[in-house]
Amino acid sequence: MSKQLPAKVDMEKIVSLCRRRGFIFPSSEIYGGLSSCWDYGPLGVELKRNIKQAWWQAVVHERDDVVGLDASILMHPQVWVASGHLEGFTDPLVECKSCHLRWRVDDLKDNKCPSCGGELTEPRLFNLMFKTFMGPIEDSASVVYLRPETAQGMFVNFENVVNTTRKRLPFGIAQIGKAFRNEITTGNFIFRSREFEQMEIEFFVKSGTDKEWFDYWVKERLNWYINLGIKKDNLRLRQHMKKELAHYALDCYDIEYLFPMGWAELEGIANRGDFDLVQHAKYSGKSLEYFDDETKEHYVPYVIEPSAGVDRSALAVLCDAYDEELDNGEIRVLLHLHPTLAPIKVAVLPLSRRGPLVQVAKQIYADLRQCWIVQYDDAQSIGRRYRRQDEIGTPFCVTIDFQSLEDNQATIRERDSMNQIRVPVSTLKTVLAAKFSGEPLFVLPPGGQIWKGGENG
Ligand code: ATP
Repeated sequence: MSKQLPAKVDMEKIVSLCRRRGFIFPSSEIYGGLSSCWDYGPLGVELKRNIKQAWWQAVVHERDDVVGLDASILMHPQVWVASGHLEGFTDPLVECKSCHLRWRVDDLKDNKCPSCGGELTEPRLFNLMFKTFMGPIEDSASVVYLRPETAQGMFVNFENVVNTTRKRLPFGIAQIGKAFRNEITTGNFIFRSREFEQMEIEFFVKSGTDKEWFDYWVKERLNWYINLGIKKDNLRLRQHMKKELAHYALDCYDIEYLFPMGWAELEGIANRGDFDLVQHAKYSGKSLEYFDDETKEHYVPYVIEPSAGVDRSALAVLCDAYDEELDNGEIRVLLHLHPTLAPIKVAVLPLSRRGPLVQVAKQIYADLRQCWIVQYDDAQSIGRRYRRQDEIGTPFCVTIDFQSLEDNQATIRERDSMNQIRVPVSTLKTVLAAKFSGEPLFVLPPGGQIWKGGENG
């Protein structure tokens, strides 16, 4: 019997597992790394893709009122004048080491954070945006910025989307992409990095309906995390205080997760009013009004923005899934990843590396990988192979043993319970598909049986 161990998730263990198993590496590691930049390894890239796919599925493919966009990272420099990013980040700034709010030095009365009283960093002339040059000449006329958020790409394409999709309000634009911020304080692994990925929606509504839609999106987004298996107790909503609100925001909630270092923002949902479209209309000279053909009115829509981080979601998913159990006197490390997010869905494990068993196992492998991402592993003892798969969160292992050659059956072993069933090889695909859809392990196909062979049998 396995037994729960006391509280065990800490950042060091997560970093070490990610490193050891190929989820996440420090960027440019052979050169000593690059501060707060990270590379996603073979498993990390799958995890991240699954998170993005789950988000896209929920907010674009399963809805009639949201369409996708992939805007370029480099945008016209005026975008950042209109958005307020250029002006807002060029003063000498200090940052609070605990709440991360940034302050202009000239606004400070003493050397403490005006919001929480925390310790402040040294002042720096700071522009949050990474600057580069477009074309062969490095002069001020050719300056462009790496976008610090994906949002502006959606605002500047508002009219293009309305005209080409004939979407009527309320509707949204969704985008996933890289964003870059020259953060003053970084750290906590992938929680705060200088290059990261965002998943953002700009949902355009008529003013007056904005509060209702704001509440809707707060609930919708919180449920998305819960549906992906994140424990409810580790999630909470925090409304921004008036003084905390960004210059554009009428209201804002953070969805916070209980990370190993404490509660911190996972996603922000803001009511941005009409700030962005009004600003872009002013700076571009183009009207960004919407014509409501029902009421025959022209108006600038309000915007509700759910803005999530892919990397922070990945970190929350990993922390939430991490577990240690005592099993036969040894610690079994496992990730209880939701099957939708698990990088590898099924592992095929032949008991021997030689002989006719290999042929059967390879055939099963070829068959299953038509449906899922499957790993074939024949190195070391079966017990160690199970542990490896547990540690990377693989929901099911399919084991082929010598008896398989006679009865044409294989064993399915479930990650969390370590329970096993034995089923005809011909039913493997349908049985696994049913288990992925939530069918209990012990619901058996014809000819199937509960397997008592044990972990190493
Ligand atoms: P924080 O207060 O933690 O700096 P923020 O309020 O500046 O975050 P937003 O501008 O609201 O963040 O960005 C939306 C989302 O993008 C955040 O909720 C987070 O998930 C992600 N994000 C923002 N900055 C970073 C970063 N430096 N590294 C990783 N993810 C980030």
